This record gives sequence, C-alpha cells and structure tokens, in this order.
Amino acid sequence: MIPLVKPMLGIEEQMLVNEVLLSGKLAQGEYVEKFEQDFALYQGSNYCVAISSGTAALHAALLASGIQSGEKVITTPFSFIATANAILYAQGEPVFSDIALANYNMSPHILLDTIKNHPDTKAIIVVHLYGQPAPMKEIMEIANKYNLIVIEDCAQAHGASINGKKVGTFGHLGVFSFYPTKNMTCGEGGMLTTQDKEMAKKVRSLINHGQAAKYHHDLLGYNYRMTNIHAAIGIEQLRKLPRFNDRRKEIAGRYSRDITNPAFTKPICLTGFEHVYHQYTLGVNNRNHFIEYLEVHGIGYGIHYPKAIPDQPLYQQRDNLGSFTNACKAAERVVSIPVRPGLTEQEVDYIITTLQNYRENG
Ligand SMILES: *Cc1c(COP(=O)(O)O)cnc(C)c1O
Repeated sequence: MIPLVKPMLGIEEQMLVNEVLLSGKLAQGEYVEKFEQDFALYQGSNYCVAISSGTAALHAALLASGIQSGEKVITTPFSFIATANAILYAQGEPVFSDIALANYNMSPHILLDTIKNHPDTKAIIVVHLYGQPAPMKEIMEIANKYNLIVIEDCAQAHGASINGKKVGTFGHLGVFSFYPTKNMTCGEGGMLTTQDKEMAKKVRSLINHGQAAKYHHDLLGYNYRMTNIHAAIGIEQLRKLPRFNDRRKEIAGRYSRDITNPAFTKPICLTGFEHVYHQYTLGVNNRNHFIEYLEVHGIGYGIHYPKAIPDQPLYQQRDNLGSFTNACKAAERVVSIPVRPGLTEQEVDYIITTLQNYRENG
C-alpha cells in the first residue's frame, strides 16, 4: 500500500526536541519565539503568534476581529469542518458562499451575491483548498468595498503564493495548521499571522487567558499556547518546507503531464498562482468504482470532502445556509491521490501507469 500521508521527520527534529527536554522548559519560551520569528520571515508577515492548533488559531482570529454573538461570517461550504466550526465557537452565524468547480475555492462573483443577500456580514474566512490559492485580488476588492474583515485559512497552503506574495498576507489575518497531514507539522500546532500590531497583541492575550500583565486579566481568554516541544519540531520542519513543497510540485507536475486518461479531471493552476499541492485531487464520475480500483492496486487515497459542511448534521438545523450546489457536486466527485514529498520515482511511475490503465466502465 502506498499511503496517502506520512510525515517526514528526521534527526534534526529529534535533536532539537531533545534540547528542549534537557532544558526543562517544556511550555512557553525561546523555541516558540524563534519559531514565530522564522515563520514571520518566511511569510513576509510583520507578526506571528504560535498557537496550539489551526482550529484554535481560527477561533482566536475571529475573536480578535471583534465578531459578536449572532454576527454573520461568510465562508466556503467546501472545507474541513474546523473552518466553519470556529465561527460557531465565536457565536457567530456561518453563511456559506459556494465554490467555483474549476478550483474548488470560493468564487468571487458568488461571494458578491452572498454579501448582497447578507449585507450585515462582518467577516469572511477564505480557504486555500488543497494548497491552491483562492483568487485573493478579487476577494480583497470585494471585502474592502463592503468593509469586511478577511481571515485566510491557510491550513493546507504553507508557502503557496500569488505573483510571489504568500497566502496569509492578503487578508487581515492568516491562519496555519501544523497537523501531521499538512505540508509541515509540529504534531499539533497552529500559527496566526498579521500585519497589524494591535491585532497581534490581542491574539497573544486571547491565547493566554486574556492576560495583559501577570495575573491581570482584562478579557476572557483561553489556553491556546504552543509549547517549546512543538515549536522545536516546527523550526526544523519550516527549514525543510521549501524542499517539501518543491518535491510536491514536481510530483504534481508529472501527474498533470502524464495522466492523460479522460476519466479524470485534473487540478488546474492559473498563471501567477503557486499551488503547493497539499493534495493532488482528481474529479471522477464513478467514485466508488475508482476507489475500489485504487484499493485493489494498493494506492492510498482520501476524499476531501465527502459532504459539503452545510450538509453535515451539525449544520442542518441552521438558517442562512445559502445555496451550495457546486460544493455538493464536488463532494461527489473528488478523490485525492498520494503527492507527499516522500514518494519515490518508482511509486510515482506506478501511480501514473495504474491511473492510465483505469477504465471507467471496466
Ligand atoms: C487542518 C485544517 C484546519 C484545522 O487545523 P488543526 O490544526 O487540525 O486544528 C482548519 N482548516 C483547514 C482547511 C484544515 O485543513
């Protein structure tokens, strides 16, 4: 079996974690600070705050944006559930704006309609799904026109960019995850990036029990801190990220060139958009048939995602779900195949040959 995901950890991570263990400073400290500084430099962001998970970072981002109970936040119906759940944590009201089928990301012209239907919207959470940047120029133009805060969910898009500008630097706040399936990992972890000093200060307080000075709490905060142990892993993973992403792009390039079987819709990438292939996701007509074929041939796969978020039972009793036909169509068709940097050339060749031999009606 060729697994879909497998984190790449080496002696470098082991050595740095060992350093932390020997130091005895397991929680906050200099490794967390270094990870934040390194990430800020990599991103071209002024401020970075390390957080315990991507989900916690999304929650903190919404709270720092000042979302109040019952206020509307627009997001995509086609993402991991954490994106929308963060809005529920902040007691906001999620409103879903449908995706474009071409790239599975939020569609600017549908977004404009959604805002017109919900003029009291306060913020937008954009997701760069599968590592492909969403059209941020158009989205920011709309958001600025309607005075909306934009949070970029970059949990799948570390290092992705548009014309050389990294995702996470277009909106007011960027959020990253370091879960083991992502392009880089810490075990569990997240990062919040922003250019706004006040916003960064507020987030730093929110993730540390709303503590402005020692034992002085001026708002309801949480324990969403990252530990030195996780940060040590993150520091080494960030150094390897450009190599990891280059290898992902190389494998994706081969798939896009060599898989010519008409049974598959392949990812498209616009000029100037740097896709970092968190997933290489195909569209197929008869998914059950295809995944049986993958199982027989020992190729791991994933379905991201089998259901649009508003179709989840948790969301079914809610109002303002909006229309999300494209998300539903995508949910029936998508299959992700392995594109992780650890794949060997033989494995890539085998996957290509196997997919070329697939017959939709065979
Ligand atoms: C993984 C992921 C998250 C959540 O990140 P965690 O670190 O697992 O909490 C949020 N949004 C998207 C799009 C993700 O893929």
